[in-house]
Amino acid sequence: MKTKKMRLILMSLLVIILPLSISGQTDPTGQPGQTAQPQGRSRTQKPPDDISKWTNKTIMWIGAHPDDETLSYGTLSMLKANGNKIIMVWYTTGNKGSRDLTMTSERLAQIRKAESEKAMGELGISPATDTFIWFGYPDGMLEYVPALELTEKICRVIRQYHPDAVFSFDPGSTNTRWHKTDHRASAFITVDGVRAAAYFLYFPSQFTHEGLQPHTVRDFFFYDSRENNYQVDVTGLSEKRIRARAWYVSQFGQGNIKYSGPELDQTRLNNLLKTNTESMAKGDKVYENFRRLTGSMSF
Ligand SMILES: [Zn+2]
Repeated sequence: MKTKKMRLILMSLLVIILPLSISGQTDPTGQPGQTAQPQGRSRTQKPPDDISKWTNKTIMWIGAHPDDETLSYGTLSMLKANGNKIIMVWYTTGNKGSRDLTMTSERLAQIRKAESEKAMGELGISPATDTFIWFGYPDGMLEYVPALELTEKICRVIRQYHPDAVFSFDPGSTNTRWHKTDHRASAFITVDGVRAAAYFLYFPSQFTHEGLQPHTVRDFFFYDSRENNYQVDVTGLSEKRIRARAWYVSQFGQGNIKYSGPELDQTRLNNLLKTNTESMAKGDKVYENFRRLTGSMSF
């Protein structure tokens, strides 16, 4: 009888101890939530660090049109507030994106530049305190600009500003990501130019005549991706994001059909803010999503 009781106690102890020993396996990454890799299999890449902790870094955002920044501007705003340096680069003026029959390309180019500057201003980023670079190509025509010319330009800005991270349209990893015109060119030219910047044999006159140095970018945040693997919580910036987006009067809402700016549509903005307040009260979260790639030249 005594032996039987002892056996029962031992069995009960085993039931408690076994699961503890399995879940307590040593994690090679040292990170909570990471699964240990079985022997003989390659380890997963080290988890990327938390962008919300970054400070004193240089961040370069590159996009095709004045409004493409809306896909990542909460993240850029957070980075700026945390003491990072922001460089914004637009390939085109966006001077074709209107359905207003009274609009001209020249006027639209001016309107859209001002809209992006005001929007970014809402997020704490402005030409006065940060670097805004406009290459000034016509909207919709980027694919017809010589790729060599564009690649050299991107290479130059990378060598001038030495960014720690680049934000770009996603060219895709294993498969090409299809984008509409300009976004396609922006995605591919950007990664080509960034790659060229690392090797001194590309565009050597940038060293001999311009005094620049090679630079390797080691962190990429690809926006407008179908392979998102990284989220940034921008819930705290939800109202600012809405206020910023309201400045693109020529793009979002009726202003695209009949331009009514530069004043923003206050009624539309109030409605969006009201919806946001209700959403926040419910505890909703707002994220910006990226395909993040860490490590140099790994695309
Ligand atoms: Zn665009």
